[in-house]
Amino acid sequence: MYKRVLLKLSGEALAAGRGFGIDAVFIHKVAEEIAAAHSLGCQVGIVVGGGNFFRGVAQQAIDMDRVAADHMGMLSTVINAIALQDAIEKRGIFCRVMSAIEMHQVSEPYIRRRAIRHFEKGRIVVFAAGTGNPYFSTDTAAALRAMEIKADILLKATSVDGIYSADPKKVPDATRFAQITYNDILRLNLGVMDTTAVSLCRDNNMPMMVFSMREQGNIVRVVAGEKIGSLVTA
Ligand code: UDP
Repeated sequence: MYKRVLLKLSGEALAAGRGFGIDAVFIHKVAEEIAAAHSLGCQVGIVVGGGNFFRGVAQQAIDMDRVAADHMGMLSTVINAIALQDAIEKRGIFCRVMSAIEMHQVSEPYIRRRAIRHFEKGRIVVFAAGTGNPYFSTDTAAALRAMEIKADILLKATSVDGIYSADPKKVPDATRFAQITYNDILRLNLGVMDTTAVSLCRDNNMPMMVFSMREQGNIVRVVAGEKIGSLVTA
């Protein structure tokens, strides 16, 4: 079982079937699973995306300055982080939101040592606002935070059960990798994560598990060490 993990949840995951915003029922299911993983004794840090509200590269931002659009994208992750914090704390577990963009009234600023202290005190930490910089993604933020907090593994929860040779929703005979290297992801141009995030993990030997959060209980299973998704190693 892992002692400390960094869980990456995309914004779209929180929208569940709705496509936009937050699915009020689904976020409680996710919080329930995170609470269960925490009760196993695992320290959980979470990086949450914002694609359910706004993406810097989305069609709706086509006429916008990229930096302005990315600022909007980062702020949308804060909305998700606060929602997740609320759902987790409903389970009686203390949870802190730490934002890479300072906004003292709604979250703590991200301070690495303070984050580690939260883990030691048994709190869950939700890292918001990505890296705080435009032109990055929350996948890259997840890779960065995973390394900073010295997580055992980066767990990327998605809507498919692992990494495939092609998008399994479009190519029915795409094959699934039980294990793959970061170099192969880059070489085959697999869209599981952006290249910045992939190379950051590769260069720093951060293992990653890509798994589906569609089935209830999967977050607990991966935290307990079950190999239910695709394992990525350097
Ligand atoms: N973003 C950014 N810098 C970061 C992380 C995110 O500018 O370090 C912006 C970017 O516009 C991105 C949006 O925030 O499109 C939402 O993040 P992302 O698309 O990674 O969310 P997800 O796809 O995981 O829901």
